[in-house]
Amino acid sequence: MNISITLPDGSVLKKPAGVTPAQVAASIGKRLARDAVAARVDGVLVDLGVPLEQDAALAVVTLDSPDGLEVMRHSVSHVMACAVGRLFKGAKFGIGPAIEDGFYYDFDVGGALRAEDLERIEHEMALIVSEELAFERIEMPRDEARALMEEAGQTYKVELIDGIEDPVVALYNTGDFIDLCRGPHIPHTGKVGAFKLLSIAGAYWRGDSARPQMQRIYGTAFPTEEALAEHLRMLAEAEKRDHRRLGRELDLFSFDEEIGQGLVLWHPRGAMLREVIETYWKEVHRRHGYQFVATPHIASEKVYLRSGHIPKYEEMMYAPLMIDDQRYRLKPMNCPAHIKIFQSRLHSYRDLPIRYAELGTVYRYELSGALHGMLRVRGFTQDDAHIFCTPEQLVAEIEGVLDLVKEIMGAFGLGLRFYLSTRPEVYLEEATDEEWERATESLRLAMERKAIPFEVDEGAGTFYAPKIDVVPCDSLGREWEQGPTIQVDLNLPKRFKATYVGEDGKEHECILVHRAILGSLERFVGELIEHFGGWFPAWLAPEQVRVLPITDGHIEYARSVLRRLEETGVRASCDERNETMGYKVRSGTVDKVPYLLIVGAREVAERTVSVRSHDGGDEGAMPVDGFAGRLRTEIETKQLPAGLRGGT
Ligand SMILES: [Zn+2]
Ligand SMILES: [Zn+2]
Repeated sequence: MNISITLPDGSVLKKPAGVTPAQVAASIGKRLARDAVAARVDGVLVDLGVPLEQDAALAVVTLDSPDGLEVMRHSVSHVMACAVGRLFKGAKFGIGPAIEDGFYYDFDVGGALRAEDLERIEHEMALIVSEELAFERIEMPRDEARALMEEAGQTYKVELIDGIEDPVVALYNTGDFIDLCRGPHIPHTGKVGAFKLLSIAGAYWRGDSARPQMQRIYGTAFPTEEALAEHLRMLAEAEKRDHRRLGRELDLFSFDEEIGQGLVLWHPRGAMLREVIETYWKEVHRRHGYQFVATPHIASEKVYLRSGHIPKYEEMMYAPLMIDDQRYRLKPMNCPAHIKIFQSRLHSYRDLPIRYAELGTVYRYELSGALHGMLRVRGFTQDDAHIFCTPEQLVAEIEGVLDLVKEIMGAFGLGLRFYLSTRPEVYLEEATDEEWERATESLRLAMERKAIPFEVDEGAGTFYAPKIDVVPCDSLGREWEQGPTIQVDLNLPKRFKATYVGEDGKEHECILVHRAILGSLERFVGELIEHFGGWFPAWLAPEQVRVLPITDGHIEYARSVLRRLEETGVRASCDERNETMGYKVRSGTVDKVPYLLIVGAREVAERTVSVRSHDGGDEGAMPVDGFAGRLRTEIETKQLPAGLRGGT
């Protein structure tokens, strides 16, 4: 009997029932057969060897697709487990999924693995690849699989099987390694691409610190050696730029056990960097018609009950403080306070739009395991703003925020991707369908009017608002986890009865837009450190210039140069230490000061400075005023490093 197989291009092949996707691929072409790693049959990802018994839509999945890469990486995790099983007798296996950029597998080998073990395991993996062992899929009754795993001493697998409800489970056998696994997998181990094991970390079984600690090995794999090498180069670069390391080296910030986890201590250089960003942020916001407000760090619980934060977000709020028998909370969000300022007087439609902005510090609970340098902390300052407007003003207001996003992110040389996040499956029912629709369409229309290309992220809005999410992309091409957000709130105006008096003399509900551009200043600065690799452009650098006198005899002139620069508002210092020039230049480079000015006998005589810049290297001597003028222009125009200019 023949079946019809519909290919992605719409063409239909007649094949005998029982044909496998691998055979179909081979009948189409040698190349497709070679590159195939799995298949999608009626949308479901399956092995190439699965027989097709009825009419089906078939897409052959190749290694160059995201699906194919994931199947291959997951297969490499099995190859790694197979190697560990050979090298460590009695090893017990946890789980081993593909993850973004690679894979991992958790092992219990009765002790800690060492870095040297990775090499041995990689070597064994290479052997397994050369053996071209088949990934054999076996389906069996759950109880039988459980007995098999129990017999093999695989207690973690037994626990996993106990959690499965299906009466039949799938196993994959590779040589002498058998694993509980849904699959699919590549046909045989020879189809593995270029791989590298990266690191070992302790990981509790099922993330539970009361359970045994296992050894998690992380690795990565790519279709080609070149792609792997490029990825490893990127990892090394990211490691060099790690903001936690640079934060220490550049003396920007620290954390202290006694102060508490996830609470940032900004050192003078870090605080200066933050101050420069805040000053810029305020200048832009003033220009765009925002008014600044300031609100307290704690508030009575009443306001968070009314806003809905306690019912919805209590797990990320800190425990109540008792003041005069009243429960207070550390502020998790600025919105209720801004609404209260808005409501402190009556507003007519003529007052709108009103835009309140605040660099508001908020406190949110994060699990200690989730804390990560400046990127995930427990107290942070949001560049928050709330816009109160009429429905007619909404689109123009969103357009204004989009302008602001582009201007501010552009000043830092960040690339931007825009997403329209629509109503999620679980949403607030107080708002009508028309209100959701209108808010979503306003966001869409604003982006269209600004000719901003965007993608729709279906269902990714919050339960109270559709939103525009903007994803910044840094100099290494990495997408930041959080970026600018613009949300049309369908909840708070109702809960707080935020209204204005319309042209008709009647009360109308306000439209409320929440928006943050930098997001958390802590996170933003952490990301910025990595984006620039610590080499901040002159406009941002905490120390823009360092003057280096060659000997004590040149200190007086060096000080006059310093004074001249400071008069023009430049952040500069003078290295008067009795050290060699080589030492002073190295130390200026370690501190990543954009400009080092060397002054010796010749410079004193000619009233010049010899300029060494990060961007341009040794630039030779120039008059002090000439340098100061050039630097002022560079700072005023917020000039970026060569590679980032015209970033967005
Ligand atoms: Zn698996
Ligand atoms: Zn808000």
